Amino acid sequence: MHIDAQPIDLKLATPFRIARGVQYTASNAIVQITHNEYTGYGEAAPSKYYGESVETVLACIAMFAGNLGDDPFFIDDIHQRLHKIIGLNPAAKAAVDMALYDIMGKMLGIPLYKLLGLNPERAAYTSFTIGIDTPSEMAKKALLAREYPILKIKVGTRQDLDIIKAIRDVSSATLRVDANAGWTPKEAIKNINAFAQYNIEFVEQPVPAHDLEGLKLIRDNVPLPIISDESSITVDDIPRLAGCVDGINIKLMKCGGIYKALKMIHVARAHNLRVMIGCMIESSLSITAAAHLTPLVDYADLDGNLLIYDDPYEGVRVEQGKLMLPNRPGLGVKKR
Ligand code: MG
Repeated sequence: MHIDAQPIDLKLATPFRIARGVQYTASNAIVQITHNEYTGYGEAAPSKYYGESVETVLACIAMFAGNLGDDPFFIDDIHQRLHKIIGLNPAAKAAVDMALYDIMGKMLGIPLYKLLGLNPERAAYTSFTIGIDTPSEMAKKALLAREYPILKIKVGTRQDLDIIKAIRDVSSATLRVDANAGWTPKEAIKNINAFAQYNIEFVEQPVPAHDLEGLKLIRDNVPLPIISDESSITVDDIPRLAGCVDGINIKLMKCGGIYKALKMIHVARAHNLRVMIGCMIESSLSITAAAHLTPLVDYADLDGNLLIYDDPYEGVRVEQGKLMLPNRPGLGVKKR
């Protein structure tokens, strides 16, 4: 098998602000693996927060080239070699992993959900994210997003309660809240208790990733479910999160791809945790890869492709929030 990677810049439709910063573009990489007459595609959406950049992704792919072997179905072997050669670098691994699944599906002539034994009718509804802005601007954005039945509201500001009030005033959507580690445990307990009257479905990552005691303290003192994101990176994080949170947010770009995400889903279930699948700012290529897993999860936040205006790919579609999986072989993604 032969592998190549190229950088790609995705422009956001509007600046995207969360508790720890603002983003205008996403510098991602597209990975292409060829095997006989088949070509598989994958995408890496590296995040500085998790120690990656487009440069590290390209370097990892160059380092790994020559070690793919000649059978894309040996996914476990390939992941073991990937780990030995490129260490962490989960977004780079994810791109390789999804390109291999794309090839497997194309060789078999079946879509990825079928390869995984999943029913596409059970694909999840995705939330649509409202980035941080003034409360009135966020309410305006919520109104513009009224085709989506679930909104994810980014908070972690001094006006968080005003934000929730302003959005609830104009929207009857299901609301999820994501603080992106922006609060102390004390602030979180106060805020979440105040949010509860606004019919919020759950709160994501109230405190910094390492603060599992804080997560537990919050969970024991608020009426809403708590979902980890920054604290739940790989499968190894799950056992210690049980009892501290109600569920985990899994992302292909944090865990290293579809193969690893499947492990996380099953380990999370064994620990009685709810499961969410989320994303970075990504094109429809890797968003579609993640969407194929959603028949297995409780919540999906797969809107990274909806936040950019120059999506070079088409794959999964969203109809009134419902993820509609493509039935073409492999990931089912094509160039626009
Ligand atoms: Mg999050």
